[in-house]
Amino acid sequence: MKTCSFIFILAVVGCTQEKPLQHTRWSGSGYRASLVDIQTKQELSSRSAGESITVSQQVFESIPVHGSFIKTISFKKKSIFESSATAARPSQNQLKKAKLLQQNRSWYWLSFLLQHPDYKTWDIEKPASVVLNPPDMDAVLMVILREQKTFKVQRILFNTALKIVQTDEMGSQIVELKEVSALAYPQGPIKSDLSQVKVLRDLNNDGLKNLKVKVETESLAKIKKEQPLELLPSDERFDQIQAFYFANKILNWFSEKFAVDLDSNVNILTQVGFPEKTNAAFYYNEKIRLGTGDDIVFSKIYLDPSIVMHETSHFVIDHLARLPFTGEGGSLNEAFADVFTTFFLNSPRLGEVAYKKAQFVRSVETKITLKEKNGGLYHDSAIISGFFGAYDLQLAKN
Ligand SMILES: [Zn+2]
Repeated sequence: MKTCSFIFILAVVGCTQEKPLQHTRWSGSGYRASLVDIQTKQELSSRSAGESITVSQQVFESIPVHGSFIKTISFKKKSIFESSATAARPSQNQLKKAKLLQQNRSWYWLSFLLQHPDYKTWDIEKPASVVLNPPDMDAVLMVILREQKTFKVQRILFNTALKIVQTDEMGSQIVELKEVSALAYPQGPIKSDLSQVKVLRDLNNDGLKNLKVKVETESLAKIKKEQPLELLPSDERFDQIQAFYFANKILNWFSEKFAVDLDSNVNILTQVGFPEKTNAAFYYNEKIRLGTGDDIVFSKIYLDPSIVMHETSHFVIDHLARLPFTGEGGSLNEAFADVFTTFFLNSPRLGEVAYKKAQFVRSVETKITLKEKNGGLYHDSAIISGFFGAYDLQLAKN
């Protein structure tokens, strides 16, 4: 997919580029340019409805020509289409310089980062390598980088003076993410006021979605793609925004603190059981199900950061450790979900906002020793969460 869009862009760049790339096109009859002397390296090969398609890039002594391509389609081993964009041979001196640059590419890459420190936080999609850059065919370094937060992919060409000579946005993004303004309680309604917050949102689709979280609801009040997110808590759709915000918050923390970035997004389903008011709050198989609360045991579950973040932590733990949900492994699973949540919120209590029967459901201040282990899922989880909770409180005091 990635290679595919890369080749596509390469082809487009090739098509729109002027001299000295020489363009040819042959559709199975008439004059066909001879490309036999041209050295290439194959980039892509695929088959479609009996046709075989290959795309190659032109090279000189194994150094690719930026923007060059030869695309051939054949049917039953016979060529039926060919198009190309190729360059004339560079000078011996240019090739010599290109090879020298290839040898020292690591040094140039590190020097480039010193000159352009903004790129230090970007991930490398394809490390720096030398290409011959038309029209002058001078050797430059090409690197493909991905911005961590937006997943934006950029191709950068820079020269030996560490100057950027060209940048291109790469790939076809399925999601167009935009930072939008929303109303939410940043730390829940007990510890914070309703505030204006920013969330990353895919604007091409209904609902709330980005690369980390997707929120849907069983209620009839869906969020359309054009819907502004500055909704008051009295709005039926507010629960989706608040849950979206909480889940993103803790997943960003996992990413920044522990470099944990998962390749799928967690699905949150709010108002589970609608129109019934249920007390559902559980994670299973990439999905978090949240009821609104029956107003007897729980109320407005989506407003409770500890509940949404506890369930989101299960998603992370599931990806990293595949812990079970019952037995000792289940207690470990619960303990770690509580530990991450309370560490992030810097508050030992779980369920403080939504629980109606007491001040909170449980707290990592509870200490249970290994001797007291009795097989109870949450009881035994406190052996671990209490240990970390004590450590956390100690840190908070110092
Ligand atoms: Zn749990």
